[in-house]
Amino acid sequence: MTADPTGLPADLSTAVERLCRTPRLLVAMDFDGTMAPLVPRAGDARPLPATAAAFAALAHLPGTTTALISGRALASLRAVASPPPEALLIGSHGAEVWLGPDARPLTLTQAQARLLGRARALVQGIAGQHPGTLLEEKPAGVVLHTRLAEDSAASAAVEQAHLALDALPGVYVSEGKRVLELSVVRADKGDGLRTLRDAVHASAVLFAGDDVTDEYGFGVLGPQDVGVKVGAGQTAAQFRIGSPDDVAPLLELVLGLRSARS
Ligand SMILES: [Mg+2]
Repeated sequence: MTADPTGLPADLSTAVERLCRTPRLLVAMDFDGTMAPLVPRAGDARPLPATAAAFAALAHLPGTTTALISGRALASLRAVASPPPEALLIGSHGAEVWLGPDARPLTLTQAQARLLGRARALVQGIAGQHPGTLLEEKPAGVVLHTRLAEDSAASAAVEQAHLALDALPGVYVSEGKRVLELSVVRADKGDGLRTLRDAVHASAVLFAGDDVTDEYGFGVLGPQDVGVKVGAGQTAAQFRIGSPDDVAPLLELVLGLRSARS
């Protein structure tokens, strides 16, 4: 499948060449597992240098907007990604939106805040019973991380959390790679991608992601867009690359083509 010096699949390179002729391009990237290799501790994640460099350079081109679209809370995303100031940010899978300095932070209703408190207490109790599981607080939710737990403890914790949270209407539960996440704001990466596309009037979108939650993003792409799944697993994306190491060549191809055009 690999045909050109970039090492990218030939059909992807051809699609990117077509994509880059669009007037207003949005380059929206997932962070963990896409811009940055997956690591055991979320705070240690950093973008691969060549990927970060190409992403930052893209933000300076006319007719090109960059964005990160992550499941992380915005504060956590900023801390590990150090995004270029021009990049738009979607956090908490779409519940948090930063489209510039005037952006207002997410605020919960009183009912949502109460519900979040109840859900958090339930998951705290479950994490306490399963060694190696960890909680992460987010503005609209809580994440139960099981990456450091034994497989049996991880699956038991996830099963108990599902049972407990299913009894709380208004709590939305999703699963990713060794994480279970609850949110009191219903949003997914498809919502986030639509928000970005509308905000910048993008005529086409490049979106890459590695996790099951990215499938919502691939689901809102049209024929003019390019969706790239990073790594193994079922996907609705049209294209696939092997690992985060392949993201720099992808962004460098976009950068070269968009630079030549401007
Ligand atoms: Mg990811």
